[in-house]
Amino acid sequence: EVSEKLTWIELDKKHFFHPSSSIKDSYEKGPVVFMERGEGIYIYDADGKEYVDGLSSLWNVNVGHGRKELAESASEQMKKLAYTHSFSRFSHKPAVQLAEKIASLAPGDLSVVHFTSGGSESNDSAFKIARHYFKLKGQSQRFKIIARDRAYHGVSMGATSATGLSIFRELGGPLAAGFIHASAPYSYRCEECKPECKGDCAIESIYDLIEQEGAETIAAIIIEPVQGAGGVIIPPPDYIKAVRKICDKFGILMIADEVITGFGRTGKWFGIEHEGVVPDMITFAKGVTSGYIPLGGVVISERIYRELVEHSNQNFAHGFTYSGHPAACAVALKNIEIITNEKLVENAAGMGILLQQGLEKIKNELDIVGNVMSRGLLGHIEIVKDKTSKEAFSSSHKVASQITEQAFEYGLITRPIMYNNTDIIAICPPLIINEQQINQLLDILQESIKKIMGRI
Ligand code: PLP
Repeated sequence: EVSEKLTWIELDKKHFFHPSSSIKDSYEKGPVVFMERGEGIYIYDADGKEYVDGLSSLWNVNVGHGRKELAESASEQMKKLAYTHSFSRFSHKPAVQLAEKIASLAPGDLSVVHFTSGGSESNDSAFKIARHYFKLKGQSQRFKIIARDRAYHGVSMGATSATGLSIFRELGGPLAAGFIHASAPYSYRCEECKPECKGDCAIESIYDLIEQEGAETIAAIIIEPVQGAGGVIIPPPDYIKAVRKICDKFGILMIADEVITGFGRTGKWFGIEHEGVVPDMITFAKGVTSGYIPLGGVVISERIYRELVEHSNQNFAHGFTYSGHPAACAVALKNIEIITNEKLVENAAGMGILLQQGLEKIKNELDIVGNVMSRGLLGHIEIVKDKTSKEAFSSSHKVASQITEQAFEYGLITRPIMYNNTDIIAICPPLIINEQQINQLLDILQESIKKIMGRI
């Protein structure tokens, strides 16, 4: 058995170029774990060790692991018709059914769906739709996209250019033109607004960009209703309303990136529903299929779609081979049925309250927990050296990484956040989690922090 494991490690080191990983560590040390099986909120490695999947794998396994119905829905569709495209007015029922279903769940007049295979493609598609929309209206100069610091929108060229995390932006060579960044509304780390940050500085920074660049050059503002990979930042009340107001005032399109927040994660079907505003487009992926099969898309408002129809005089030459893959659409339909029938949006809201209370308790009990934030089943914990000054530990300590490694040893998978020197740990368990499992997650997290606290 030991030699079999070593063989897999050697093969991995030699042939597998891992996504989002240290190339050197992958090549020299090989993988830290081989995952083999999942059931509910748990995932098991090749040695049979159980882990709480505290990040729903990559913020996506919303209905939990091991759902045979999802495998069966893919299998049935594949046996009937595994693949057909939807270019040039070809169509198929799974895509139409899913588009109609998503339209019924999305807020306001968001009712037309353009499918992709994932989040990055969805954001690139939204940028191109926004730019095309203005081109059709004779405003080709309106092509710039405002995104925000700390934002993560994916790794394709447009999505990377919108992303506000330097580690993703600095792999080499120029990014796409026309992407500019405003401040993230992270009140805890705001040094401008006194005595308390209500997000005004972040709104000001959008105004500043618009003034600097000229409103007539801005096509869209993209926001995550709750930021994720750069820290789980719940925006201050009314911040997102203010973004909508800016968009209305200057004729800019508002794109909500709901790749993480969509499909129940925050206790509503879409994260933007907490804000009482309707964006012009929503991008989605991850939770739409709970990660069982790749699928994403952009939901467009009826108004935008009508205007596109009215002005369009050419082929919209943009689409992926796997846009609206029939088997992926069948899985998404079944996944949405599970979320609905098992009331998982409601469960995310209810368990979210327990998660929030548990995180607050950890903050009160541990000296190095400076800030906790959560909405529904999406949260984070920020570690600091000094609670009063909010001073962070030196980056050489890699405290968040140490804590997540400790948690991993104790059987909990979470994630350190890759943003400058801040030590943040993200939490995002499957929406099926129950009270006892929330407590299990929180206990392991607290024990892991305590253990590392004792060492630094
Ligand atoms: N947008 C957000 C908010 C995300 O969190 C992610 C992935 O984590 C993406 C976009 C990119 O999605 P994908 O990895 O499917 O391309």
